[in-house]
Amino acid sequence: MQTIFKAETYKNFINNVWVDSSSQELIKSINPANKYEIVGFVQNSTQDDLNNAVESADRAKKMWRKIGQAARGQFLYKAADILEQNLDDIAETMTREMGKTLPEAKGETARGVAILRYYASEGMRKDGDVIPSSDKDALMFTKRVPLGVVGVITPWNFPVAIPIWKMAPALVYGNTIVLKPATEGAVTAAKVVECFVKAGLPEGVLNFITGSGSVIGQGLIEHPLLNAITFTGSENVGKNVARAAAERGIKFQLEMGGKNPVIVTRDANLDLAVEAVISGGFRSSGQKCTASSRVIVEETVYAEFKEKLIEETKKITVGNGLQKDIWMGPCASESQFHTVLDYIEKGKEEGATLILGGEELQGEEFKNGFYITPAIFENVNPKMAIAQEEIFGPVIALIKAASMEEAIEIANDSKYGLSASIFTSNLNSLLNFIDDMEAGLVRVNAESAGVELQAPFGGMKASSTGSREQGEAAKEFFTAIKTVFVKGS
Ligand code: NAP
Ligand code: MG
Repeated sequence: MQTIFKAETYKNFINNVWVDSSSQELIKSINPANKYEIVGFVQNSTQDDLNNAVESADRAKKMWRKIGQAARGQFLYKAADILEQNLDDIAETMTREMGKTLPEAKGETARGVAILRYYASEGMRKDGDVIPSSDKDALMFTKRVPLGVVGVITPWNFPVAIPIWKMAPALVYGNTIVLKPATEGAVTAAKVVECFVKAGLPEGVLNFITGSGSVIGQGLIEHPLLNAITFTGSENVGKNVARAAAERGIKFQLEMGGKNPVIVTRDANLDLAVEAVISGGFRSSGQKCTASSRVIVEETVYAEFKEKLIEETKKITVGNGLQKDIWMGPCASESQFHTVLDYIEKGKEEGATLILGGEELQGEEFKNGFYITPAIFENVNPKMAIAQEEIFGPVIALIKAASMEEAIEIANDSKYGLSASIFTSNLNSLLNFIDDMEAGLVRVNAESAGVELQAPFGGMKASSTGSREQGEAAKEFFTAIKTVFVKGS
């Protein structure tokens, strides 16, 4: 049942209190399915508010470090339960705020619960190794220690899962946090933070601040009390984060864009490949960093694959993601909507052929939303902008390859290296793909956008700084190793 909707105002959470910004200004968050619907208001924060947030995290770091890993895990179990109890409301808020369909939003929120439980149990796992010393009378071991105050900057496309997959490991390994979410997902993020707050985290451990990227994001990465920064977002902003962190010599982690290829070989199960390309390319309106955007098909099966792809894509229903029969929602924002339309124009200008979709949805019901129908291009040269740049929209480029070798070459002809898929039943093809593909996630007979929380996640090349998130890998970023040498006196 749909609840009656009322736009509320969300505050910053600093030093264990929900507070207004000193600016007394609010930013409105709107629904991309209807730009006249306000989803909520968040604080337009100032440098003063930011200083308060970082100082609060700094004051709490000693206490939180000493409380012990097992005790910290217990807070995450509580937060998981509270998130689970609020799953429907948070998922609906996400759909209203950034447009992904309700089933997708529910799936993402449930993923958030699972991530919290995974890291809660880390509280009971080892935090070091014993290493034999060459001195037989000595004990030598390593111990994982927290970094201190971690700045967390997140994008709008997974407004629940990404903040959680950063905050949960940061907290369990003993760091305090200042979270600055994307403005376009800030209401959803505030509701996630509420779950952590209700779990009873001690004063100052988690601080939440909203505001523009150029003031609050930039101020955070330059703040002298920050000990580390974890960022997911665009490549341009990421480079900026890297510069600021390098300048101050603090640890940083960046996960950025992708231009993820799918290779379909002559012996592929074409039905399976079509299903995966549609799901990987068009779910969340193509706004996943792991979305399939280049589909490289061996010549001999190209025509058959294309026919099937067109037939299945035509069945996609586009509309307000809160409605039951809708498969794909709007683009998340007006600027995203225009970016996608511009790329579609650019594709045509560069000589690619738009064979399906790529249009604004017409009709009274759609006129206030940012709707674009799923687009498929063919005759795409791998050097064209639509084959090289991250569009972050429901646009797929079909590229023909004469052989498997050429397909891999095209797939690797990208500055990005996040995720890649192959559809094949040939053992050699799949083994070569696993070896030769320059991507952090390589998937065989599975869509490019699938991720499991217990496995490392992250990209190569311009997609990432090479560190990994999720699973055990998160420990590498959120802790430092102390080597301890002990000898009796
Ligand atoms: P974005 O524009 O780079 O923003 C990301 C975050 O950075 C937001 O919180 C933003 O705040 C903030 N920010 C903006 N300017 C800043 C500055 N000068 N200093 C510090 N922070 C600043 O990215 P987005 O549009 O939200 O998200 C889409 C991008 O994220 C895509 O490129 C996508 O591929 C990438 N992404 C990558 C992954 C991955 O794991 N590899 C996952 C999801 C998304 P405001 O919102 O207030 O501007
Ligand atoms: Mg942005």
